[in-house]
Amino acid sequence: MEKVKCLIIGSGPAGYTAAIYAARADMKPVLYQGMQPGGQLTTTNEVENFPGYPEGITGPEMMMQLEAQAKRFNTDIRSGFITKVDFSGEVHKCWTENGHEIHADTVIISTGASAKYLGLESEQYYLERGGGVSACAVCDGFFYRGKEVVIVGAGDSACEEAHYLSKLCKKVTMLVRRDVFRASKIMAERVKNTENIEILYNTETVEVLGDGNVVTGVRVKNNKTGEEKVIPCEGFFVAIGHKPNTEIFKDYINLDETGYIIYEKPGTSLTNVPGVFVAGDAADKTYRQAVTAAGTGCMAALDAERYLAAKEH
Ligand code: NDP
Repeated sequence: MEKVKCLIIGSGPAGYTAAIYAARADMKPVLYQGMQPGGQLTTTNEVENFPGYPEGITGPEMMMQLEAQAKRFNTDIRSGFITKVDFSGEVHKCWTENGHEIHADTVIISTGASAKYLGLESEQYYLERGGGVSACAVCDGFFYRGKEVVIVGAGDSACEEAHYLSKLCKKVTMLVRRDVFRASKIMAERVKNTENIEILYNTETVEVLGDGNVVTGVRVKNNKTGEEKVIPCEGFFVAIGHKPNTEIFKDYINLDETGYIIYEKPGTSLTNVPGVFVAGDAADKTYRQAVTAAGTGCMAALDAERYLAAKEH
């Protein structure tokens, strides 16, 4: 069994920023990187909207820099992940995948969320190559200026992203699998009233087509008539929801009906368990940006530091 002052779970911008602040406050943080070291940004190409990088930076490179910055202040960064927690007592118990037990005075949850994908082989092929598949219009839409794109989904996210893309792209084709939107009426109406968005109802993706390097189109099927056709496009956006990585906390931490952690006190990083804090997408279904995750990572480290200081006095 190991005792630590501050355990950080997750290695996206929220986790690394929390680590930088906690390490500089001499909390000797231990950070477990989780299943996807570097988090969601490692599946993005170019990051052009993180302040301080006027020329942009690739997602993986930015995460390497954040890791290096956290290491510079002696954060103990470990590969591996936390598989079980027990937050019932004053000491927060956590176990790694090999059964290593950690007792932490404070825990910062920065496990993020994962974008859902359709799961088609062709979709994953171009996603892994950075060849035109994306789950984030705000991150990647800019690369498709003046081009034609396809977006899948019919919720508020899909509507918001389709509308965002319509301002950049020549044409946006939206694939809706049923004959109705799930999105709020106002969001759906906005999409329907946008001239360069074409909505195809009852339509599902069969295959993402490409030349081996980049996407060139999408084969779709009308699930009522069985008719198939190819839509030429250079970008294929998936906006069918996100899943917060909060499953292991559900017995102790208050989650909303979709699994996002609920802030105990808005404007802070506090959860319902004293000494356990949250940062980043695990508690954010609205903004989901690297810069907002980093901001809440800072808040969590400062809140953890204050919690420890109050306990010591
Ligand atoms: P939602 O779960 O609300 O919507 C997901 C959409 O994706 C649904 O239309 C669903 O179709 C579709 N979908 C799911 N799986 C597939 C699939 N395999 N193939 C094709 N389509 C699929 O997720 P969102 O991310 O849109 O929203 C999450 C939450 O965040 C919601 O509560 C939303 O209101 C909120 N939000 C609010 C915003 C705002 O107010 N500005 C902006 C963004 C999100 P079907 O309907 O057929 O199930």
